[in-house]
Amino acid sequence: MTEFDLIRQLSSRFSVPDGVIGIGDDCAVIGDTLVTTDLLAEGVHFLLDGISPFDLGFKSAAVNISDIAAMGGLPKYAFLSIALPTVNDGWLAAFSDGFASCCHRYRVTLLGGDTSASAGGIFINVTLMGECPHGTALLRSGARPGDLICVTGTLGDSAAGLRLIQEMADQVGHDENVLLHRHCHPEPRVDEGIALRNCPGVHSMMDISDGIAADLPHILEASGVGATVDVATLPLSEELRRLCASRSWDPVDLALCGGEDYELLFTIAPGTQPPVPCTVIGSITALDAASALDASASRITWLGGKPSYVGFRHF
Ligand code: ADP
Ligand code: MG
Repeated sequence: MTEFDLIRQLSSRFSVPDGVIGIGDDCAVIGDTLVTTDLLAEGVHFLLDGISPFDLGFKSAAVNISDIAAMGGLPKYAFLSIALPTVNDGWLAAFSDGFASCCHRYRVTLLGGDTSASAGGIFINVTLMGECPHGTALLRSGARPGDLICVTGTLGDSAAGLRLIQEMADQVGHDENVLLHRHCHPEPRVDEGIALRNCPGVHSMMDISDGIAADLPHILEASGVGATVDVATLPLSEELRRLCASRSWDPVDLALCGGEDYELLFTIAPGTQPPVPCTVIGSITALDAASALDASASRITWLGGKPSYVGFRHF
């Protein structure tokens, strides 16, 4: 059973009231309120000696704020639940500083949470509430054949930062520092998300948490469409290009398969001027009836390269 089978097991036992958007998008949408929640588990989402407590606190808020940005929403309120094997005063103070720093930057207020001992490992769960005028949230399901596929920022930087941590790189210069910072200190694209929500030609949107190869199919499945992606157009930072050249890493694979960029992935009608800096990486295509019904078929035609694997799978 995959993570997605497990979610289907749960969701099949519930019917969602009319007008409410439930499981399947970056946030649930209830009127003009957005709600999202994310769990970070030690050893799965982070290694205790691979990220400072400040950055872990910052990231716990940021990954949730990014899901609000993914709908074009304004983040407002947070709830923080933590389970800790032991309490280390210095660690907790730095974690709290990082969490508060991210919340303050995005004007988010902590309103509650829960605290527990843990029998093994640290668990951090944040629930974030945001606002978006009723009926305007940008969903994964709105992509239309002919739309251009766009991304904000650059891709693969965070995955390179993670690889540096995993390989315990000891020579850390400017490029390494930039990429490590992108991994440990993601900056959710809230202003960009709101600008895109206010732009009439933007049809669908999500944030990139698991890499384009794993995330783009969510838009394609929700919208019943396919896509062509031109790998040569992927936006890669100078830091990523230089680091990959010096270490013989494949920057394209990091950009396609690596996670945690927390950039926005959206589709836009051709001829629409995007209201934010972005890169066009491909276009949405119509699916024939057989492909639309075949859940296992790849909906993406890759030009000039392809991913070596598809994102992180929990199960
Ligand atoms: P994201 O990466 O944007 O946070 P996920 O891939 O984690 O999204 O989740 C996809 C969808 O499944 C979301 O709508 C999320 O709320 C829902 N979901 C994930 N896990 C569960 C669960 N255990 N119970 C109910 N819904 C879940
Ligand atoms: Mg998301």
